[in-house]
Amino acid sequence: MSTGAGFRGSKHCWMNGQLMETKDALVSPMESIHLGIFEGIKAYVEGDILKEGKLNIIGWKQHIDRLWRSAAVDGLNIAYTKDEMLKAVRETIKANKFKKNVYIQPRLWPKVDKPEESHVVVPTWGFDTVLGKDNPKFSQERRFMVSSWRRVSSDALPPQAKSWANYANSNLAAREAKRCGYDSAIFLDSRGFVSEGTGACLMTVRGGKVITPPVSASILESVTRNFFIEFIPDLGIPVEVRDLTRVELYASDEAFLCGTGGECTPITSVDNIKLGEEYPGPMTSKIAAYYSDILAGKVAKYRHWLTPV
Ligand code: PMP
Repeated sequence: MSTGAGFRGSKHCWMNGQLMETKDALVSPMESIHLGIFEGIKAYVEGDILKEGKLNIIGWKQHIDRLWRSAAVDGLNIAYTKDEMLKAVRETIKANKFKKNVYIQPRLWPKVDKPEESHVVVPTWGFDTVLGKDNPKFSQERRFMVSSWRRVSSDALPPQAKSWANYANSNLAAREAKRCGYDSAIFLDSRGFVSEGTGACLMTVRGGKVITPPVSASILESVTRNFFIEFIPDLGIPVEVRDLTRVELYASDEAFLCGTGGECTPITSVDNIKLGEEYPGPMTSKIAAYYSDILAGKVAKYRHWLTPV
Protein backbone atom coordinates (compact mmCIF):
# COMPACT_ATOMS: atom_id res chain seq x y z
CA MET A 1 0.00 0.00 0.00
CA SER A 2 1.62 3.27 -1.08
CA THR A 3 1.26 6.40 1.10
CA GLY A 4 0.79 9.05 -1.59
CA ALA A 5 4.26 9.88 -2.86
CA GLY A 6 4.84 13.55 -3.52
CA PHE A 7 1.65 14.74 -1.83
CA ARG A 8 2.02 18.54 -1.35
CA GLY A 9 5.80 18.26 -1.57
CA SER A 10 5.99 15.31 0.82
CA LYS A 11 8.65 13.42 -1.12
CA HIS A 12 10.24 11.94 2.00
CA CYS A 13 8.81 10.55 5.20
CA TRP A 14 10.13 8.73 8.25
CA MET A 15 8.94 5.21 8.98
CA ASN A 16 9.92 2.84 11.79
CA GLY A 17 13.29 4.48 12.41
CA GLN A 18 14.26 5.33 8.85
CA LEU A 19 13.99 8.30 6.55
CA MET A 20 12.79 7.15 3.14
CA GLU A 21 11.05 8.26 -0.02
CA THR A 22 7.32 8.30 0.58
CA LYS A 23 6.77 6.05 -2.42
CA ASP A 24 8.84 3.37 -0.63
CA ALA A 25 6.95 3.61 2.67
CA LEU A 26 4.87 0.51 2.08
CA VAL A 27 2.70 -1.36 4.56
CA SER A 28 0.49 -4.41 4.18
CA PRO A 29 -3.23 -3.83 3.50
CA MET A 30 -3.81 -6.21 6.43
CA GLU A 31 -2.46 -3.64 8.93
CA SER A 32 -4.77 -2.40 11.74
CA ILE A 33 -4.53 1.27 10.82
CA HIS A 34 -8.09 1.84 12.10
CA LEU A 35 -6.79 1.13 15.64
CA GLY A 36 -4.26 3.88 15.28
CA ILE A 37 -3.65 7.23 16.92
CA PHE A 38 -2.00 10.34 15.52
CA GLU A 39 -1.03 13.96 16.10
CA GLY A 40 -1.52 17.04 13.93
CA ILE A 41 1.32 19.52 14.42
CA LYS A 42 2.41 22.60 12.50
CA ALA A 43 5.69 24.37 11.82
CA TYR A 44 5.59 28.02 10.74
CA VAL A 45 8.07 30.08 8.79
CA GLU A 46 9.93 32.80 10.71
CA GLY A 47 11.29 35.67 8.61
CA ASP A 48 12.13 35.07 4.95
CA ILE A 49 12.17 31.32 4.27
CA LEU A 50 14.21 31.77 1.10
CA LYS A 51 16.96 33.68 2.91
CA GLU A 52 16.96 32.13 6.37
CA GLY A 53 15.01 28.91 5.84
CA LYS A 54 13.76 29.05 9.41
CA LEU A 55 10.78 27.02 10.62
CA ASN A 56 9.45 26.68 14.17
CA ILE A 57 7.14 23.97 15.49
CA ILE A 58 4.29 25.32 17.61
CA GLY A 59 3.48 23.35 20.76
CA TRP A 60 5.87 20.45 20.19
CA LYS A 61 5.94 19.42 23.85
CA GLN A 62 2.15 19.64 24.22
CA HIS A 63 1.52 17.62 21.05
CA ILE A 64 4.08 14.90 21.77
CA ASP A 65 2.84 14.58 25.37
CA ARG A 66 -0.70 14.13 23.99
CA LEU A 67 0.53 11.46 21.55
CA TRP A 68 2.02 9.58 24.50
CA ARG A 69 -1.26 9.97 26.44
CA SER A 70 -3.32 8.73 23.46
CA ALA A 71 -0.97 5.73 23.16
CA ALA A 72 -1.38 4.94 26.87
CA VAL A 73 -5.20 5.11 26.65
CA ASP A 74 -5.33 2.89 23.56
CA GLY A 75 -2.63 0.47 24.81
CA LEU A 76 -0.03 1.20 22.12
CA ASN A 77 3.67 0.92 22.83
CA ILE A 78 6.08 3.41 21.26
CA ALA A 79 9.59 2.12 20.63
CA TYR A 80 11.06 5.62 20.38
CA THR A 81 11.66 8.42 22.86
CA LYS A 82 10.09 11.88 22.51
CA ASP A 83 13.54 13.24 21.56
CA GLU A 84 13.89 10.59 18.85
CA MET A 85 10.50 11.63 17.48
CA LEU A 86 11.64 15.26 17.35
CA LYS A 87 14.79 14.18 15.51
CA ALA A 88 12.63 12.20 13.06
CA VAL A 89 10.39 15.23 12.45
CA ARG A 90 13.40 17.50 11.88
CA GLU A 91 15.06 15.03 9.50
CA THR A 92 11.86 14.58 7.49
CA ILE A 93 11.21 18.32 7.14
CA LYS A 94 14.82 18.96 6.12
CA ALA A 95 14.77 16.13 3.55
CA ASN A 96 11.64 17.60 1.95
CA LYS A 97 13.29 21.05 1.64
CA PHE A 98 10.01 22.85 2.24
CA LYS A 99 9.87 26.55 1.40
CA LYS A 100 6.59 27.10 3.24
CA ASN A 101 4.68 26.26 6.44
CA VAL A 102 4.64 22.54 7.20
CA TYR A 103 2.02 20.19 8.63
CA ILE A 104 3.40 17.19 10.55
CA GLN A 105 1.24 14.15 11.25
CA PRO A 106 2.94 11.37 13.29
CA ARG A 107 0.84 8.22 12.98
CA LEU A 108 1.01 5.06 15.09
CA TRP A 109 -0.85 1.79 14.91
CA PRO A 110 -0.37 -1.70 16.41
CA LYS A 111 1.49 -4.16 14.17
CA VAL A 112 -1.02 -6.71 12.92
CA ASP A 113 1.20 -9.71 13.66
CA LYS A 114 2.79 -8.25 16.84
CA PRO A 115 0.27 -5.90 18.51
CA GLU A 116 2.63 -5.23 21.42
CA GLU A 117 4.70 -3.22 18.91
CA SER A 118 3.59 -0.23 16.84
CA HIS A 119 4.35 1.10 13.40
CA VAL A 120 5.40 4.75 13.57
CA VAL A 121 5.23 6.95 10.48
CA VAL A 122 5.95 10.66 10.18
CA PRO A 123 4.51 12.22 7.02
CA THR A 124 4.85 15.99 6.55
CA TRP A 125 3.42 18.28 3.89
CA GLY A 126 3.16 21.96 3.04
CA PHE A 127 0.05 24.04 3.82
CA ASP A 128 -1.26 27.57 3.34
CA THR A 129 -2.35 29.49 6.42
CA VAL A 130 -5.78 31.14 6.78
CA LEU A 131 -4.13 33.81 8.98
CA GLY A 132 -2.45 37.07 8.04
CA LYS A 133 -3.72 40.56 7.31
CA ASP A 134 -6.12 40.70 4.32
CA ASN A 135 -5.92 36.92 3.77
CA PRO A 136 -9.13 36.19 1.77
CA LYS A 137 -9.19 32.67 3.22
CA PHE A 138 -9.69 34.10 6.71
CA SER A 139 -12.75 36.18 5.80
CA GLN A 140 -14.49 33.68 3.54
CA GLU A 141 -18.05 32.75 4.53
CA ARG A 142 -18.44 29.64 6.72
CA ARG A 143 -21.96 28.38 7.36
CA PHE A 144 -22.28 25.77 10.09
CA MET A 145 -25.09 23.54 11.27
CA VAL A 146 -25.57 21.85 14.61
CA SER A 147 -25.12 18.21 13.75
CA SER A 148 -27.84 15.67 14.38
CA TRP A 149 -24.97 13.38 15.42
CA ARG A 150 -23.75 13.80 19.02
CA ARG A 151 -20.01 13.94 19.81
CA VAL A 152 -18.62 10.57 20.94
CA SER A 153 -18.88 10.52 24.67
CA SER A 154 -16.06 10.00 27.18
CA ASP A 155 -17.73 6.86 28.52
CA ALA A 156 -17.81 5.21 25.07
CA LEU A 157 -14.93 6.38 22.88
CA PRO A 158 -12.85 9.00 24.70
CA PRO A 159 -12.44 12.18 22.62
CA GLN A 160 -9.37 13.06 24.71
CA ALA A 161 -7.38 10.34 22.91
CA LYS A 162 -6.57 11.42 19.36
CA SER A 163 -7.55 8.15 17.73
CA TRP A 164 -8.69 7.69 14.13
CA ALA A 165 -11.82 5.99 15.45
CA ASN A 166 -13.11 9.36 16.75
CA TYR A 167 -12.88 10.75 13.23
CA ALA A 168 -15.55 8.32 12.00
CA ASN A 169 -17.87 10.38 14.23
CA SER A 170 -16.47 13.63 12.73
CA ASN A 171 -16.89 12.25 9.24
CA LEU A 172 -20.59 11.52 9.80
CA ALA A 173 -21.21 15.09 10.92
CA ALA A 174 -19.09 16.65 8.15
CA ARG A 175 -20.85 14.61 5.45
CA GLU A 176 -24.28 15.43 6.87
CA ALA A 177 -23.39 19.15 6.81
CA LYS A 178 -22.29 19.04 3.16
CA ARG A 179 -25.41 17.08 2.21
CA CYS A 180 -27.57 19.74 3.85
CA GLY A 181 -25.75 22.56 2.05
CA TYR A 182 -23.56 23.79 4.95
CA ASP A 183 -19.78 24.11 5.09
CA SER A 184 -19.31 22.21 8.32
CA ALA A 185 -20.84 21.11 11.62
CA ILE A 186 -20.75 21.72 15.34
CA PHE A 187 -21.44 18.83 17.71
CA LEU A 188 -23.50 18.82 20.86
CA ASP A 189 -22.30 16.42 23.57
CA SER A 190 -24.39 13.55 24.90
CA ARG A 191 -25.98 15.96 27.46
CA GLY A 192 -27.05 18.42 24.77
CA PHE A 193 -24.44 21.11 25.51
CA VAL A 194 -22.22 22.54 22.78
CA SER A 195 -19.10 20.42 22.31
CA GLU A 196 -16.73 21.17 19.37
CA GLY A 197 -16.35 21.15 15.60
CA THR A 198 -15.49 18.09 13.51
CA GLY A 199 -11.76 18.86 13.72
CA ALA A 200 -11.35 21.92 15.94
CA CYS A 201 -12.54 23.46 19.21
CA LEU A 202 -15.17 26.17 19.43
CA MET A 203 -15.01 29.62 21.03
CA THR A 204 -17.81 32.18 21.08
CA VAL A 205 -17.77 35.87 21.90
CA ARG A 206 -20.62 37.31 23.91
CA GLY A 207 -20.74 40.65 25.73
CA GLY A 208 -17.01 41.20 25.22
CA LYS A 209 -16.09 37.81 26.72
CA VAL A 210 -14.81 34.65 25.06
CA ILE A 211 -16.65 31.50 26.16
CA THR A 212 -15.45 27.96 25.36
CA PRO A 213 -16.83 24.56 26.44
CA PRO A 214 -14.89 22.55 29.06
CA VAL A 215 -12.97 19.31 28.44
CA SER A 216 -15.89 17.50 30.09
CA ALA A 217 -18.09 18.52 27.11
CA SER A 218 -16.50 15.63 25.14
CA ILE A 219 -13.87 17.73 23.37
CA LEU A 220 -10.35 16.87 22.36
CA GLU A 221 -8.05 18.56 24.87
CA SER A 222 -6.79 20.91 22.20
CA VAL A 223 -3.28 22.33 22.34
CA THR A 224 -4.44 25.44 20.47
CA ARG A 225 -7.45 25.96 22.74
CA ASN A 226 -5.13 25.90 25.78
CA PHE A 227 -2.85 28.46 24.10
CA PHE A 228 -5.85 30.67 23.26
CA ILE A 229 -7.14 30.48 26.85
CA GLU A 230 -3.69 31.65 28.00
CA PHE A 231 -3.04 34.47 25.50
CA ILE A 232 -6.51 35.99 24.89
CA PRO A 233 -6.54 37.82 28.28
CA ASP A 234 -3.39 39.73 27.07
CA LEU A 235 -5.78 41.51 24.66
CA GLY A 236 -7.99 42.62 27.56
CA ILE A 237 -10.62 39.99 26.69
CA PRO A 238 -11.69 37.69 29.56
CA VAL A 239 -12.10 33.96 28.82
CA GLU A 240 -14.72 31.76 30.49
CA VAL A 241 -14.52 27.96 30.28
CA ARG A 242 -18.04 26.68 30.86
CA ASP A 243 -20.90 24.72 29.36
CA LEU A 244 -22.61 26.54 26.54
CA THR A 245 -26.18 25.95 25.34
CA ARG A 246 -27.22 25.79 21.70
CA VAL A 247 -29.27 28.99 22.11
CA GLU A 248 -26.28 30.82 23.60
CA LEU A 249 -24.33 29.81 20.51
CA TYR A 250 -27.09 31.24 18.27
CA ALA A 251 -27.03 34.45 20.35
CA SER A 252 -23.25 34.91 20.09
CA ASP A 253 -21.81 38.16 18.74
CA GLU A 254 -19.03 36.14 17.12
CA ALA A 255 -17.80 32.56 17.02
CA PHE A 256 -14.69 30.88 15.70
CA LEU A 257 -12.93 27.54 15.64
CA CYS A 258 -9.43 27.07 16.97
CA GLY A 259 -7.11 24.17 16.30
CA THR A 260 -3.84 23.24 14.66
CA GLY A 261 -5.52 22.64 11.30
CA GLY A 262 -8.10 25.44 11.42
CA GLU A 263 -5.79 27.90 13.24
CA CYS A 264 -8.43 30.60 13.98
CA THR A 265 -11.43 30.27 11.66
CA PRO A 266 -14.40 32.64 11.88
CA ILE A 267 -17.95 31.25 11.69
CA THR A 268 -20.57 33.24 9.73
CA SER A 269 -23.76 31.49 10.83
CA VAL A 270 -25.09 28.47 12.69
CA ASP A 271 -28.27 26.77 11.43
CA ASN A 272 -28.70 29.79 9.12
CA ILE A 273 -28.74 32.18 12.09
CA LYS A 274 -26.21 34.91 11.38
CA LEU A 275 -23.88 35.64 14.29
CA GLY A 276 -23.39 39.33 15.19
CA GLU A 277 -23.30 42.40 12.98
CA GLU A 278 -19.87 42.22 11.46
CA TYR A 279 -18.04 39.34 9.75
CA PRO A 280 -15.34 38.40 10.58
CA GLY A 281 -16.07 39.81 14.04
CA PRO A 282 -13.68 42.42 15.50
CA MET A 283 -12.64 40.26 18.48
CA THR A 284 -12.02 37.23 16.26
CA SER A 285 -9.85 39.35 13.95
CA LYS A 286 -7.90 40.76 16.90
CA ILE A 287 -7.32 37.28 18.38
CA ALA A 288 -6.30 35.84 14.97
CA ALA A 289 -3.81 38.69 14.36
CA TYR A 290 -2.17 38.16 17.77
CA TYR A 291 -2.01 34.40 17.21
CA SER A 292 -0.42 34.99 13.81
CA ASP A 293 2.27 37.14 15.51
CA ILE A 294 2.84 34.41 18.13
CA LEU A 295 3.28 31.80 15.38
CA ALA A 296 5.75 34.05 13.55
CA GLY A 297 7.87 34.31 16.71
CA LYS A 298 7.10 38.00 17.22
CA VAL A 299 5.73 37.73 20.77
CA ALA A 300 8.63 37.22 23.22
CA LYS A 301 6.33 36.02 26.00
CA TYR A 302 5.33 32.94 23.98
CA ARG A 303 8.59 32.12 22.21
CA HIS A 304 8.85 29.10 24.48
CA TRP A 305 5.87 27.57 22.61
CA LEU A 306 8.09 27.41 19.50
CA THR A 307 10.71 24.72 18.84
CA PRO A 308 13.16 25.37 15.96
CA VAL A 309 13.24 22.68 13.25
N1 PMP B 1 -11.00 18.85 18.20
C1 PMP B 1 -10.83 17.93 17.23
C2 PMP B 1 -11.90 16.91 17.04
C3 PMP B 1 -9.68 17.93 16.44
O1 PMP B 1 -9.52 17.02 15.47
C4 PMP B 1 -8.70 18.93 16.65
C5 PMP B 1 -7.47 18.97 15.79
N2 PMP B 1 -6.44 18.22 16.36
C6 PMP B 1 -8.93 19.87 17.66
C7 PMP B 1 -10.08 19.80 18.43
C8 PMP B 1 -7.90 20.92 17.95
O2 PMP B 1 -6.83 20.36 18.64
P1 PMP B 1 -5.38 20.96 18.52
O3 PMP B 1 -5.48 22.39 18.87
O4 PMP B 1 -4.58 20.21 19.53
O5 PMP B 1 -4.94 20.75 17.13
